[in-house]
Amino acid sequence: YTAKSTRSGHAVYSDGDVGPGSNQCHTLQALNAALQDDQLTLHFQPKINLATGEVSSAEALVRWEHPVLGLLQPDAFLKRFDEMGLMPALTGVVLAQALDQAAVWAARDQPISVAVNLSASSIMDSKLPDQVAAMTLARGLSPSALIVEITEDVLVADRDRARTVLAALREMGVRIAVDDFGKGYSSLSYLRELPIDELKLDKSFILTMMDDARATALVASTIELAHSLGLEMTAEGVEDEEALQALTDYGCDLAQGYLMSRPIPADQMEAWLSNRNGLPLPGGSPLQNAG
Ligand code: C2E
Ligand code: MG
Ligand code: MG
Ligand code: MG
Repeated sequence: YTAKSTRSGHAVYSDGDVGPGSNQCHTLQALNAALQDDQLTLHFQPKINLATGEVSSAEALVRWEHPVLGLLQPDAFLKRFDEMGLMPALTGVVLAQALDQAAVWAARDQPISVAVNLSASSIMDSKLPDQVAAMTLARGLSPSALIVEITEDVLVADRDRARTVLAALREMGVRIAVDDFGKGYSSLSYLRELPIDELKLDKSFILTMMDDARATALVASTIELAHSLGLEMTAEGVEDEEALQALTDYGCDLAQGYLMSRPIPADQMEAWLSNRNGLPLPGGSPLQNAG
């Protein structure tokens, strides 16, 4: 790392990370402040149902409003939380904020489920199902208002434990989505081993599908694979109309991406939702980029 000092004495690191491993006290203090002083915030990105145009869910993506460094993206700090054993605490904060927002939406005409990303360490936490049950109950929500997104790293850790926790969540009515599907090496073993409801094809396939015949073939066949397993298919990284149209033609169920909206604060999503106001999709080009 190359570090330079700011006026307040905090260090800024050129790679966007928030602290070196060599100064863990400072880092731990900063991470605890993030958790305790409400510095973590969520941005939401709507997922569009391609058959109906409806928004029935939105992904919650964590941001850190760092007092010195400004708004930080997850790539800049998640690893640090994990290393410090603070991922369950972060997950607790994210779940609380996401479910608060789901409760706001549930009180409206059009309820919107929230999708929360869970790290492997959070999935290994056997207290998670009870925690989720208590949190949804406290907000008057059905557990089906929550979708959890997991990635392949849950399979690297203790698979039996992951399966048990996921099965308990799913039993309650929480939906399970596999994120970044196809990115790793053992994606197919998810489909055999884990209780799941939804596949999210990794955005690298969607971003390249219009220029790359192999990516296109993989997208189309993954949609068929998902459907033959009774799973819902989501495409993430939808950035242009052509990709959206192709995904609709292939029968993809849900789409998420900058074309429709970047991840935005909840109040901006309110405005985004009321602007599109039940307009059909796509082709009629009602899709507006809110970012
Ligand atoms: P992810 O779960 O795969 O989330 C999708 C990422 O793709 C988000 O990046 C989102 O901003 C970005 N994205 C969405 N649409 C487009 C698009 O059309 N084009 C492109 N190029 N990118 C798009 P973000 O918000 O920086 O999050 C990065 C990753 O950090 C997430 O990937 C997820 O793995 C992780 N993450 C985010 N929030 C949390 C959280 O609360 N807990 C945990 N454990 N991980 C989180
Ligand atoms: Mg990012
Ligand atoms: Mg995700
Ligand atoms: Mg992803």
